[in-house]
Amino acid sequence: MLKNEIDKLAIYIAKQYDIYAPVLSKDELIVKGVNNIDNIDYSSRIPDNTFKQLFLPDQEELFSWKKDKLIKPDLSKVKGKAAYGMNVLDLKALGLFDLVFTNDPYYLAKRENGLVVGISSGAPADYEEYKIFSMDKVENVLEHIPFDIFLEKNKEGEFKVYSGSAKGRKVLRGAGIDVFENIQFAGLIQEEGPDQRMLKLMPIVKGSEDNPVWDEIAKICTACGKCSTACPTCFCFDLLDEAGADNTVSKKRVWGNCFYPEFSQVAGGKKFVDTVKQKLFFWYEHKFSRTPAEYKVPGCVSCMRCFKVCPVGINIIEVLNKLEKKND
Ligand code: SF4
Ligand code: SF4
Repeated sequence: MLKNEIDKLAIYIAKQYDIYAPVLSKDELIVKGVNNIDNIDYSSRIPDNTFKQLFLPDQEELFSWKKDKLIKPDLSKVKGKAAYGMNVLDLKALGLFDLVFTNDPYYLAKRENGLVVGISSGAPADYEEYKIFSMDKVENVLEHIPFDIFLEKNKEGEFKVYSGSAKGRKVLRGAGIDVFENIQFAGLIQEEGPDQRMLKLMPIVKGSEDNPVWDEIAKICTACGKCSTACPTCFCFDLLDEAGADNTVSKKRVWGNCFYPEFSQVAGGKKFVDTVKQKLFFWYEHKFSRTPAEYKVPGCVSCMRCFKVCPVGINIIEVLNKLEKKND
């Protein structure tokens, strides 16, 4: 399928949804709202920021109280957004979010009213450079990532189109596209079973609390929290009460960040995760031990955004390699 037909698809989608897609701006690839579909980047490179804001906003009101009256939002009116051009790694992260927020009506409203369009142009250089977990070719992973529509771009710039849901098929047909392959989602775990590196890392990271690696990187980590903000799989949140006008109090959900000073603080001031060393261990343990134990998939998709944003160059691959080496 030629690019002009994909453009027609994007125009059709833009009539029904606000489109958010990777856009090249100077040297940065940024996910943002798109008014002109010509600006969409189809390289499938990993953008500097993530799509997670579309499904888990950095702050959202859950409900409010006015005197003794509870005011709840009408979730059926949540406006659908199209996450357009999600690369395979970000779709894996979305798959983890779908598991974590499986009973969360606020998240589900955004997923159900929105549209997810994936993109791949083979195995982008960004994926090849860094590998934490297995990186199968696109055709092997499509059954194991969530999407409504997936666009696979070949070297000649032509596209093969896949549908991953009834919603995706409806949109494709509405856009006049009848030639596509249907993919049935078979869960996040591939047929050969859970990722072997994940299984190996789980006990190593869990038992590493006293490992000198944490002392080493705690000496340089500034606890800025950029790694967590940039990470597509970091999903922790806090709940805040915010007083507004007219005796209204809002209950808000805001992104949590285990590197921030207030993290894990309880009444009386005690913090259960306090030092930088504890925070680093906690962050890695969540991704490589607790999330795999709970959801059977890694809490990391190897996108390397955490390394790219880290002001002191802490490299997650090197940290994991050091932890593994000390256990060999
Ligand atoms: S590589 Fe870093 S930013 Fe990317 S998913 Fe893993 S922990 Fe998050
Ligand atoms: S981005 Fe780097 S310096 Fe900042 S909290 Fe994360 S590891 Fe520490």
